Amino acid sequence: MATTATSPTTEFTRDVLGRYVCNGLDEARASADRGRRPDARPFDVIIVGGGTFGAALAEHLWFRDKAHRHRILALEGGPFLLPEHVQNLPVVGLGVADATSLADLWRRSPAEQAAWRKEVWGLAWHANVTFPGLAYCLGGRSLYWGGWSPRLLDTELAAWPAPVVSELDTRYFAESEQQIGVAETNDFIYGDLQNALRQQLYASLMAGKITDAIALGLLPDHPAVRGRTPTASELRALLGVTGNGGTVTALRDELKLEAPLAVQGRPPRAGFFPLNKFSAMPLLMKAAREAQAEARNDDVKKRLMIVPNCHVTHLVVEGGRATRVLTNQGDIGVPADGVVVLALGTIESTRLALNSFGGVPGADLIGRNLIGHLRSNLTIRFPRTALASLSPQVRDLQAGALFVKGRHTHTDGSGRVAHFQRRARTPRPSSSRRSPTSTRSTASASPTTSTSSSRFAASARWSRSRPRATRTRAA
Ligand SMILES: Cc1cc2nc3c(=O)[nH]c(=O)nc-3n(C[C@H](O)[C@H](O)[C@H](O)COP(=O)(O)OP(=O)(O)OC[C@H]3O[C@@H](n4cnc5c(N)ncnc54)[C@H](O)[C@@H]3O)c2cc1C
Repeated sequence: MATTATSPTTEFTRDVLGRYVCNGLDEARASADRGRRPDARPFDVIIVGGGTFGAALAEHLWFRDKAHRHRILALEGGPFLLPEHVQNLPVVGLGVADATSLADLWRRSPAEQAAWRKEVWGLAWHANVTFPGLAYCLGGRSLYWGGWSPRLLDTELAAWPAPVVSELDTRYFAESEQQIGVAETNDFIYGDLQNALRQQLYASLMAGKITDAIALGLLPDHPAVRGRTPTASELRALLGVTGNGGTVTALRDELKLEAPLAVQGRPPRAGFFPLNKFSAMPLLMKAAREAQAEARNDDVKKRLMIVPNCHVTHLVVEGGRATRVLTNQGDIGVPADGVVVLALGTIESTRLALNSFGGVPGADLIGRNLIGHLRSNLTIRFPRTALASLSPQVRDLQAGALFVKGRHTHTDGSGRVAHFQRRARTPRPSSSRRSPTSTRSTASASPTTSTSSSRFAASARWSRSRPRATRTRAA
């Protein structure tokens, strides 16, 4: 069926965002068809998967292609769902699917399966451990992620190819930290609770009380001060503390405990809105709209197209290179100098490559060295008085988030790197224990927020909540 040229109206909504940002595969194929227009050009970069990395890559290629030489096509299996991170929106109740397995899911009724999906979640593979699966939508899991983004240590990159490590270290780590908001500190999580927790954690680390913690002096600087020599007063400002206490070295080390969150809470400068929690969607939408403006509504001239609901099933490989991309909507050719990028998430990218490149020299290496990212959640409560430097006057709802890097050496001499994401909240005062209505907060009503007011709750879970949003429009 041909894609509708104007924004379609559903029973409830006019789909302006979808139509403005996306194209149908029919439109993409027609735009590359020389039989229709002699000036038509094929897509020479085809990105398979429009999730976190696919969307970020599409945007990056679009803006860096100063010579306007390339045509970029992103094929995404799911629909356009949200224009930004779910926590940046009013509380719509659109969450992450619960962990399950295909075997469990298939035992449920169609209605239960639909409820589990939370609109877009799906399980692509069988597993003997339950998991939430993938968010099949533009932006992928970046619409839901917690935003914790610590930079990999040199020791963690030891087995990586040297040119890749060099490019990450000299350019891309810093650029991405800047882009997603990790270089900002203390603008989202700050205040008395955060400072008291951080100071106590710092003191415990310095006293050697935390088993397996990597010494702060051995860790790289916080991105906000990396590669330069900050003054003590600048460091205090970054930490959100007043007074004259602390040497430059001590303050610099304490700053390393600030959570590396991809959140920007305050405007970077006057007249700008903060990006809040990062997702890849705003980037992708900006690039798509610029591509549309540049092409002046002529699809043949459009250098970036994003096709949702387009499930890629196979790559046709001839002579060792991909020549066609097969999808549920039809196939699309790859020109001789074209590139196909797999951005379907670790396992699905590997699966598509294994299914498509079998027999090609080196294909047996696909899927080796996959890195697993394991996480355990632990929720503990402790009395307010355990935080030595927290004033008893602090009674309001506050959040803290800190980061500790550790290395454990097993008895056989092998080592594993781990980190603790420490989140803590003061309990909500009883007078304000109600669900958010007029604010844009997504602070969840988890059991930890409704405990006795004499206790704190601390948790190692990924941050999924945020205090009052700051993205209100200035008059
Ligand atoms: C609740 C939650 C919290 C998280 N918190 C953190 C955190 O704090 N820090 C951190 O580092 N990581 C976190 N993560 C993990 C992080 O979000 C993911 O590692 C990252 O987003 C993966 O990006 P990706 O592009 O590889 O995959 P995705 O974002 O999943 O993108 C893959 C895309 O491919 C599409 N796709 C799949 N198959 C096909 C196909 N056959 N054809 C076409 N399209 C297809 C999917 O629809 C999807 O859009 C979190 C994840 C979740 C769910």
